[in-house]
Amino acid sequence: MGEFELIRRYFLPLSRSGKHPAVLLGPGDDCAIQRVGEGLDLVFSVDTLVQGVHFPANYSPEKLGWRCLAVAASDLAAMGADPVCFTLAMTLPDADANWLHGFSAGLSEASREFGLDLAGGDITKGPLTLTLQVHGTVPSGSAIKRSGAKPGEIICVSGTLGDAGAALELLDLALPTRQQAQILTHYHAPRPMLALGQSLRGVASAAVDISDGLIADLDHLLEASGVGGRIDPDRLPLSDALIALRADATDLALYAGDDYQLCITLPENSLEALPSSVRDQLTVIGQVEDPKGLRFHGDSRPLRKRGYDHFGSQ
Ligand code: ADP
Ligand code: MG
Repeated sequence: MGEFELIRRYFLPLSRSGKHPAVLLGPGDDCAIQRVGEGLDLVFSVDTLVQGVHFPANYSPEKLGWRCLAVAASDLAAMGADPVCFTLAMTLPDADANWLHGFSAGLSEASREFGLDLAGGDITKGPLTLTLQVHGTVPSGSAIKRSGAKPGEIICVSGTLGDAGAALELLDLALPTRQQAQILTHYHAPRPMLALGQSLRGVASAAVDISDGLIADLDHLLEASGVGGRIDPDRLPLSDALIALRADATDLALYAGDDYQLCITLPENSLEALPSSVRDQLTVIGQVEDPKGLRFHGDSRPLRKRGYDHFGSQ
């Protein structure tokens, strides 16, 4: 049983029973949405990072502090939400003052940078695990969901893809080259696209953040929208460093995770109408189509349908 089948079978039924009218969106998107008053919707999401699964043992506590909040805030970016606050539930093996000092410094920097204040938490003893709940808001009805993509629209991504995936094999390097260091920054210090998400409210028809890989996450978006799509692997935005370091740059951009860029859909004329400061952050990679499923444009390479599945067989 894979991760998504597990959720569908045992947990989705709970979200349907006792439906409260204020819950505007339940499981299945980057965040849930709750109407909290006239004119305002609360947008929220919870994410867990486990040592040995989401970050290596002995990983720098400063970097972990930044990374755990960045990863959680990325789901707010995908909904176009304005960040408000977060809670932090920590399971720690011991009270190591050096480690805590570093972690708190990295977390504090990210908290200031993203405009998310710490609002509470919980501490327990055990294997190192971090769970962060992030809260944001949007004007009522304006959150960008995964489910609004329509045939004929274009598919865009922000930034460059594949860099964080390429960093995985460089993590232990003592003296990285300049290009290797650029790649490593994408993994250690991802920047959730909060401002971009906000400026796409009322413009993007659907959005998802790319945490598990472009193919996996775009597939979730298309499925939630009940449509299909075609992308051109030759149009993927790749950094110069990635092209220089990896012959398989395109495959990394398609399938590797941890980039935390946004993948959005919108009508082509809406893209043209955006201010250039927003448009310049986006690359058109394909279009939304009627037939279900995801296909490659003008390319015979087979499409591997995989993202990371915690209970999958890969
Ligand atoms: P993301 O990568 O955006 O954080 P996930 O892949 O973690 O999203 O989760 C996919 C969807 O499944 C989300 O909408 C999430 O709320 C939902 N989900 C995950 N685990 C559970 C669970 N145990 N019960 C209910 N919903 C869940
Ligand atoms: Mg997400």
